[in-house]
Amino acid sequence: MRWSAQELDVDQPSTLPGLARLNNLVRSVQTPEFAGMTFHEVLAKSALNKVPGQSSMPFGWTINPYRGCSHACVYCFARPTHSYLDLNTGEDFDRQIVVKVNVAEVLRNELGKPSWKRHPVALGTNTDPYQRAEGRYRLMPGIVEALTDSGTPFSILTKGTLLRRDLEQIADAATRVPVDLALSIAIYDDDLQQSVEPGTPTTRARLATVTAVRDAGLDCTIFLMPILPFLTDTRQHLDEALRQAKAAGATSVLYTALHLRSGVREWFMQWLASEHPELVPRYEQLYGHGAYAPKGYRRWLAARIKPLIRSSGLERRGRASPGSGGVAHRSTEAPTLF
Ligand code: SF4
Repeated sequence: MRWSAQELDVDQPSTLPGLARLNNLVRSVQTPEFAGMTFHEVLAKSALNKVPGQSSMPFGWTINPYRGCSHACVYCFARPTHSYLDLNTGEDFDRQIVVKVNVAEVLRNELGKPSWKRHPVALGTNTDPYQRAEGRYRLMPGIVEALTDSGTPFSILTKGTLLRRDLEQIADAATRVPVDLALSIAIYDDDLQQSVEPGTPTTRARLATVTAVRDAGLDCTIFLMPILPFLTDTRQHLDEALRQAKAAGATSVLYTALHLRSGVREWFMQWLASEHPELVPRYEQLYGHGAYAPKGYRRWLAARIKPLIRSSGLERRGRASPGSGGVAHRSTEAPTLF
């Protein structure tokens, strides 16, 4: 069925007031292929986002081709970004996806400016660039091409097995600019994984993608993030996670504990109350005073997991922030000029 035939007129002010304020909205689209979802296609004015100077992230620039994410992780820290569009941070974040259809073209223009200094650019730090919509919109090949042609180092973090589609291109890019790839794989219990990350590929499929990345000749880090207190922090779960990461060929593993900021906390706690009501009081105690797990818990977790990562040979050299999950990648080294 033709994509254009699925166009729906849903961008009326009364239904989606926040989106209606976007004067760059082209159209809103639904299709049986993506049941229950709406894509809001916009013409972006810019593609590169500057990370605020005081951020703990090791990269200065990001690109987010999509807003919202069909991977629908209940813990997703990007959920609050949807409230700017007057959309809710729960189901709307999972199902109302803003697509920057011209992002590659705009990016190429920005990278071509004499003022662009080829600073490292990170993809996947906010929403997932290889979420399901990418199968239709194919924005990433143009983005990778623009970054590579301009000599800009870049990193990609994803849960999407769709990454495999572009591996040949990315491996070729890595011969010209520093590139870092990472798969986010945090949950090694199938039932829990499907419950807490209902729109994602399975853990097994993501591990197979790690192997595919390695087979393409590239390093691949696994982001064991977030670790969910009392659910995935057991010795048994962590042992299994590291065993499977190693078997898949991962070159390193990074971890951090769950972070629950406002706008995410409500959605996550609703899920917890439904699926693990016995843990609600313990989470209220842990996260009652802020978005981060308390220092005591983080110290306990570090003492448990760091020796396991070390003994598995999966330690990553470089600077990592346990709070943000940010890491100094090869692509965040001084840029190579071409
Ligand atoms: S894949 Fe990442 S961006 Fe998408 S919902 Fe999950 S945590 Fe959020």
